[in-house]
Amino acid sequence: MTIRIAVVGVGKIARDQHLPVIADNPDFALAAVVSRNDPRLNAPWYPTLDALLAGDTPVDAIALCTPTAVRYAPAALAMRRGVHCLLEKPPAATLSEFEAMRAVADASGATLFASWHSRFAACVDQARVWLAGRQIVSVAITWREDVRHWHPGQDWIWEPEGFGVFDPGSNALSIATAILPRAFFLSGATLSMPANRAAPIAADLTFVDGHGVTITMDLDWRQTGPQSWTIVVETDAGTMELTNGGANLTLPGDPQHYGEGQYGGLRAEYAGMYARFAALIAAGQSDADIAPLRHVADAMLRGRRVTVEPFVE
Ligand code: NAP
Repeated sequence: MTIRIAVVGVGKIARDQHLPVIADNPDFALAAVVSRNDPRLNAPWYPTLDALLAGDTPVDAIALCTPTAVRYAPAALAMRRGVHCLLEKPPAATLSEFEAMRAVADASGATLFASWHSRFAACVDQARVWLAGRQIVSVAITWREDVRHWHPGQDWIWEPEGFGVFDPGSNALSIATAILPRAFFLSGATLSMPANRAAPIAADLTFVDGHGVTITMDLDWRQTGPQSWTIVVETDAGTMELTNGGANLTLPGDPQHYGEGQYGGLRAEYAGMYARFAALIAAGQSDADIAPLRHVADAMLRGRRVTVEPFVE
């Protein structure tokens, strides 16, 4: 049965990925869009989710593409009506808010999918399988990108619940928590706070796992030129490199470079994400893993703040 879906919040990611991927997936049909202003798309427009649910356009699911600050109310409203809910990453503004969403999903039976698009990058599963049989010595995560290029004009991302550089950092954490065989936890962090902003522009973090393996993480939004989305894992069998946000993989002793293309694999990530959403709905299940956001919250809790130069767009 086709899933009639409404996209809520028609911004950059909704236009770049959600709408085209929905159009390409026969399991879904775009039933409506919810936007503060009429985006003039080929679907009925509603200014609020309340208006949509009170109207005569039936929907089975929503994709919530708003900033995290405005996620809980629409997610809860939808799921209480039995409407399935896909959350863009990061899923919520706080951990407790997310638990409240999860409770609504459990009580209503609606599917809640806390989507982490980077987990659907081409080589993430292969990296996880390869690492499962190895002894890990150390892990180095480098996620450096140009905020002016990727988040132009997005003032909300500099608010506390926009998470600053942890917005892309949560992508790295979503991969790390998927591929590393053991849970890890924060042991120290320094957060670089622009003097005129409420969220970090860079962060240095150190985690440790239950076997004493150190995981370092270098996040920086001030990178110009080539961007870095890399996870390097030293193991007893040599060095594994997962690059381009999980799109490419190099294994020790193996001349083949896995994965194709550059980070433009984002379209494939979203296609995989929607296939998973359809499968979850068909199975009557939820996928509500909060691990990446928990690490972000720990960094905010434990990180030492240093003030750096103001960020002017
Ligand atoms: P965006 O361009 O600012 O779009 C967010 C949309 O949410 C706005 O256009 C607006 O749509 C709606 N909205 C409703 N209430 C809002 C409020 N109080 N403040 C701001 N917008 C509000 O942001 P985005 O880049 O699409 O990011 C949205 C989410 O997707 C974030 O969680 C982000 O982490 C995630 N994401 C973004 C990217 C990316 O490349 N940008 C990639 C992956 C994931 P209407 O005007 O239609 O109401």
